[in-house]
Amino acid sequence: MSRPRKSHPKCLLCGQEGRPVLAGLFDDRFGAPGLYDIVKCPSCGLEQTWPRPSERQLKELYERFYNYGGEAGTTYTKLRERLMASPLYQLWLKADGDISFHMRSGAGRLLDVGCNEGRGLTLYAGQGFQAEGLELNEQAAAQARKRGFTVHTQALAKFTPQRPYEVVVLANVLEHVRDPVAMLSKVRRLLSSGGQVWISCPNAAGFWRRLFGRHWINWHVPFHLWHFSPQSLKEVLVRADFELIEIKTCTPALWLAQSLCVALAARAGRANRVMRSAPVIAGLMLAARGLLHPWLGNLDRQMQGDCLIVTAGG
Ligand SMILES: [Zn+2]
Repeated sequence: MSRPRKSHPKCLLCGQEGRPVLAGLFDDRFGAPGLYDIVKCPSCGLEQTWPRPSERQLKELYERFYNYGGEAGTTYTKLRERLMASPLYQLWLKADGDISFHMRSGAGRLLDVGCNEGRGLTLYAGQGFQAEGLELNEQAAAQARKRGFTVHTQALAKFTPQRPYEVVVLANVLEHVRDPVAMLSKVRRLLSSGGQVWISCPNAAGFWRRLFGRHWINWHVPFHLWHFSPQSLKEVLVRADFELIEIKTCTPALWLAQSLCVALAARAGRANRVMRSAPVIAGLMLAARGLLHPWLGNLDRQMQGDCLIVTAGG
């Protein structure tokens, strides 16, 4: 007697049933419980984490493992602030890649979706924008407001601003949401005529995913629900009525350092202590960028870098 075939989720974009490409992944950062598969659409190549947690489960997971806990004014946060305000930070971004769009200058209203405690808002304002944030975590939003910024705490789906934005930033956000097409469609409606969305997210079709395999930091189950290639991300944008302006890749040294920490030290059900060690991470980052710089640049130019950087117009 044959066993019933295990069914897999349908693709968000084309409705095809996906095929598992990796099985039994666990949370290698925080030690959240559960095992997850990565399932790929045979038609369009969009990959997803399966099973996908429900809205309620995600809320609980974020509250327990992820959320900003109100740390401010510590030696570490002060040092980070000073570093980010220094010319050294701009130099580092130039070499390493600007996955949060902190170097882009411009004018007009900018909304940073998931602005945390507002470190990015300070930098966007310094680059000429009237920056505002959207942040569901009340504690983090309160910190951002202390810096003098307007921060909205509604869910994006329910957010109705009085005036449109010239730029909406989705820096490492889209892969976390249950419906990226719905999110982008909503963002499209927030933009002024000629407005842009700036997106960064992991590149599931890059060299680093292949090299690290199941130890790739950006599977990040169960928090990353979607794993985009340049092709599948372009398709998501088309569905949301965006036109692609630019797509490129970069490879943050932090992500390489974190993938190494996963490969060396991840244990199911336990927080990854090595990854939380600032000296270890900083040392690995400097080594990766210092030793591999020209080669990383080559990979990035061939669209093989670890992070996709996208500009699209409404
Ligand atoms: Zn598909």
